[in-house]
Amino acid sequence: MKHYDCIIIGGGAAGLMCAATAAARGKSTLVLDHSNKVGKKILMSGGGRCNFTNYYIEPTNYLSANKHFCKSALSRFTQWDFIALVDKHGLAYHEKTQGQLFCDNKASDILTILLNECEQAGAEIQTHCEISKVEKNELYELQSSQGPFSCTSLVVATGGLSIPTMGATGFGYELARQFGLQVSELQAGLVPFTISDKNLDSCKALAGVSLQALIECNNQSFNDKLLFTHRGISGPAVLQISSYWRSGDELRIDLLPGLDLEEQLKTWRQQGQKGELKNLLSKLDELDLAKSFIQQWLQEDAELRPCDMNDEKIQRVCHALKNWCFKPSGTEGWRTAEVTLGGIDTNEVSSKTFEAKNVDGLYFIGEVLDVTGWLGGFNFQWAWASGWCAGQYV
Ligand SMILES: Cc1cc2nc3c(=O)[nH]c(=O)nc-3n(C[C@H](O)[C@H](O)[C@H](O)COP(=O)(O)OP(=O)(O)OC[C@H]3O[C@@H](n4cnc5c(N)ncnc54)[C@H](O)[C@@H]3O)c2cc1C
Repeated sequence: MKHYDCIIIGGGAAGLMCAATAAARGKSTLVLDHSNKVGKKILMSGGGRCNFTNYYIEPTNYLSANKHFCKSALSRFTQWDFIALVDKHGLAYHEKTQGQLFCDNKASDILTILLNECEQAGAEIQTHCEISKVEKNELYELQSSQGPFSCTSLVVATGGLSIPTMGATGFGYELARQFGLQVSELQAGLVPFTISDKNLDSCKALAGVSLQALIECNNQSFNDKLLFTHRGISGPAVLQISSYWRSGDELRIDLLPGLDLEEQLKTWRQQGQKGELKNLLSKLDELDLAKSFIQQWLQEDAELRPCDMNDEKIQRVCHALKNWCFKPSGTEGWRTAEVTLGGIDTNEVSSKTFEAKNVDGLYFIGEVLDVTGWLGGFNFQWAWASGWCAGQYV
């Protein structure tokens, strides 16, 4: 049986960072992945450009039953540490919006950095490896399609359940349960909503149209782009709020967050404005609203002229545009979700070492834990930070 100081199950963002860090400390390190190649989610991330971190990482950008758990790792391996690594490898990158950093070229540049770091430090990587059994005796003993292995430290970095076609499995959660750790309820996060009520017709008619929106649910709100789809709504603001949404909850959406519409309509009325609403609103530069959207959304009200509008009509138009309330029928689920909400209970794991508190030598890092970031590079930063911290102790 081949022995290593450290075996890492899962060669994604967290697993590769942990491998490079552990191997650089002189630990014999092996990464096992069941896929045909490692880092698949890195390759498909950020629309192929990988939003690898964010200038403004704060613990408040993360969801977890224990909101303090992420603080230690995020402060020990920061966005600046990852940026320094990227700079060391001469990678060109840019800030897109709200501190989000993307590769100038392609996401594979980030994977190449991690693989180079692993190679230089001497970490081995074994793909096509199905693990059938894990036992803890004196050491951890693994049975796999690539033969048996043993190790002193076993790191679980198998990620969440999103995008099963990219190799996601529930292996990490099952292993945690095998060793007596609690796993909290799992739910798709950063995921588009589906709509099945009367609102669906409008969404279908507007599929492909994107506009700025303020979306609220459960005391959380996001002001960003909303995209209408054939099945409902998507876009950054929608993905963000989906992580705070539970089945049956109502969403409240302001489709003109930049405008006090009631005041604008009353001002136009006072001025005796004779233009139609669809023309007047689409000409407001700061809104960048398409006439087709206003026509579809307001239907016959789009032809109203402010000079003819009484208070009731003003309220009706304001309600339609600034207070769209509805209950989504669901989300698109694991097929398109970017992340998994919930996971291994962080009370079971040390926030310093990432070792299970009651199981010596067993570590959990990355998305498999109950820590989920916002859209914008926060999830990769969690993977880097937790992977690096565990790599100091394995
Ligand atoms: C489409 C998409 C785009 C995204 N874009 C971004 C972005 O731009 N910025 C950002 O911060 N986050 C992004 N994310 C989220 C980010 O990819 C994840 O949060 C991050 O990859 C989690 O890292 P991880 O190492 O914990 O898990 P993963 O990267 O998912 O790695 C898990 C690894 O474990 C392996 N594995 C799973 N089961 C087994 C098993 N049974 N045996 C062996 N190996 C196994 C998998 O093959 C995989 O290689 C995106 C996610 C998706 C789906």
